[in-house]
Amino acid sequence: ANASKLIDGKSFAEGLRARVATAASRFKAAVGRKAGLAVVLVGEDPASQVYVRSKGKQTVACGMSSFEHKLPASTSEAELLALVAKLNADQAVDGILVQLPLPDHVDEQKVIAAISPDKDVDGFHVTNAGRLAVGQPGFVPCTPLGCLMMLKHRLGSLDGLDAVVIGRSNIVGKPMAQLLLAESCTVTVAHSRTRDLPAVVRRADIVVAAVGRPEMVKGEWLKPGATVIDVGINRVPAAEEGKTRLVGDVDFASALAVAGAITPVPGGVGPMTIAVLLRNTLVAAYRNAGVVLEK
Ligand code: NDP
Repeated sequence: ANASKLIDGKSFAEGLRARVATAASRFKAAVGRKAGLAVVLVGEDPASQVYVRSKGKQTVACGMSSFEHKLPASTSEAELLALVAKLNADQAVDGILVQLPLPDHVDEQKVIAAISPDKDVDGFHVTNAGRLAVGQPGFVPCTPLGCLMMLKHRLGSLDGLDAVVIGRSNIVGKPMAQLLLAESCTVTVAHSRTRDLPAVVRRADIVVAAVGRPEMVKGEWLKPGATVIDVGINRVPAAEEGKTRLVGDVDFASALAVAGAITPVPGGVGPMTIAVLLRNTLVAAYRNAGVVLEK
């Protein structure tokens, strides 16, 4: 019974990538060029390097062009802004992603603000945050959009369900809350100042944990049958000396016993994020080329 509770993000992401690949080849046939994603990496943060490499690989595997711009950590803000302006103007580039974090001497907000909102496939530009808030078409941050896709796939309509989002970051918690509200959930956003978090979580049919605290949400906090989406990626010491392992923000073992469905870590939300990025890039390509996407 526990196996059927698992929401398999890895296979969901594979399915989404296959649909993106089909649509990408149709795009090429219709428009005469491949859809393209530009990824900008500044500096040598090891985690960022891994993400950028795997974004590039998956972009190409889906039949789209990947333009990677790797710049030294010493790159000035002005140079970065100039590159963004160039990519904004480049017809072969449909989506632009600037990998965060940026070095301290660069103002992240200024760089994100410079990206054309219609190429902002990460959905971080204030224009896209605003579009999401007022219900206009735009780009939604990849991680929360992936969470919503998995929730709808599992539950069908979310209409009237009680949802609790733990965390209020601009890239996960807040857009997640907006998406659930748009699906007519009754949404509570919890954060570090929330009083009696277990009692808040207890009401929820849907719990999305995006906190960054290993195994914080316990099974006994959950309403029996709740659907749990664990966004957290935390590296903790493993039993074996000197080794580490990944855990989520949810205490998986105790939650599995109570939840109706749950995403594992790893293999849940993580693999969906890049798949949604590719999906957003293809949507950008169709919109920017003025081609109407068939259903
Ligand atoms: P942030 O650090 O930006 O935000 C964390 C949020 O959790 C804040 O709103 C904070 O509240 C809240 N919080 C902290 N402590 C508590 C507490 N004790 N009780 C309740 N709320 C608390 O993190 P992100 O949103 O960027 O990321 C969250 C997690 O998701 C991380 O583990 C990250 O690694 C992971 N992540 C995974 C992705 C994926 O692809 N799967 C993508 C992005 C993130 P306050 O605002 O009051 O400080």
